[in-house]
Amino acid sequence: MAVRIIRKGNDPDLREKASEIKKITPQIINILNDMAETMYSAEGIGLAANQIGIPKQLVVIDIQDGNLIELINPKIVELEGKENNVEGCLSFPGIIGEVSRAKKVTVEALNREGQNFRIVTNGLLSRALQHEIDHLEGKLLIDRAIRFIEPSEKEL
Ligand code: ZN
Repeated sequence: MAVRIIRKGNDPDLREKASEIKKITPQIINILNDMAETMYSAEGIGLAANQIGIPKQLVVIDIQDGNLIELINPKIVELEGKENNVEGCLSFPGIIGEVSRAKKVTVEALNREGQNFRIVTNGLLSRALQHEIDHLEGKLLIDRAIRFIEPSEKEL
């Protein structure tokens, strides 16, 4: 396993549309392992493969509840409600934006064994899933933000 370099700011890698995984090879498993290690080392709660320069539909999330979720080819199948809240991004250190997202989300993906699974959730995990799946489309926090939060407002 290795910590990869996280692409930041205007890096064109962040704008690339990620391609679907056709076959879960040992190389894909390696990338997932590196993504988790990179996310934990940066103390983030989610990472998309675009963020380490690999335009493939791979996402890792751990909202610091000790549960690592790996998603291959994740798709949002249902969105419900609306909720504004603040979020950050490992590709934009120091930036906190207020973003309007669906409250509840249903996501389908494959795990590393190639089995289909479904997550229905709200709160922080819902937000993290929507944020990371945005990355796979080349969509970023800075595009979505309604406004940016000043450091003095952080206690929000
Ligand atoms: Zn991000």
